[in-house]
Amino acid sequence: MYVYCRNCGFSQDDFWSDEYNPFNDDYIKEFRNIFKIGMNGKTVEMEICNAEEREMEYTKNERNMAEVDFREYLAWRMDSIALRFRNMKWITWDEFQADTAKECPACGCTDMLSVD
Ligand SMILES: [Zn+2]
Repeated sequence: MYVYCRNCGFSQDDFWSDEYNPFNDDYIKEFRNIFKIGMNGKTVEMEICNAEEREMEYTKNERNMAEVDFREYLAWRMDSIALRFRNMKWITWDEFQADTAKECPACGCTDMLSVD
């Protein structure tokens, strides 16, 4: 469940809970796997558009994907999680419910926020 603005298109990550948050086991497993790949001297595969957006050096593989240094990939994943965290005005559903003066953090409107 997440909040978005029908006026300007602002949206944020799903509300965090014990089950869903950026520190759950799935992320830790992902980071460990990336690290293991890197320690074995291998590169990590990612979408070319994401590698180019981040201005990473890459080699295009046979599946038309970018092969990048694992350190850059790991940093990119961590940055994307940090960005999500920074963009969240309301971290939990309870926090959103308790806000009696809800205002879109992007456009300031007060009557166009929706939850899906
Ligand atoms: Zn807005």
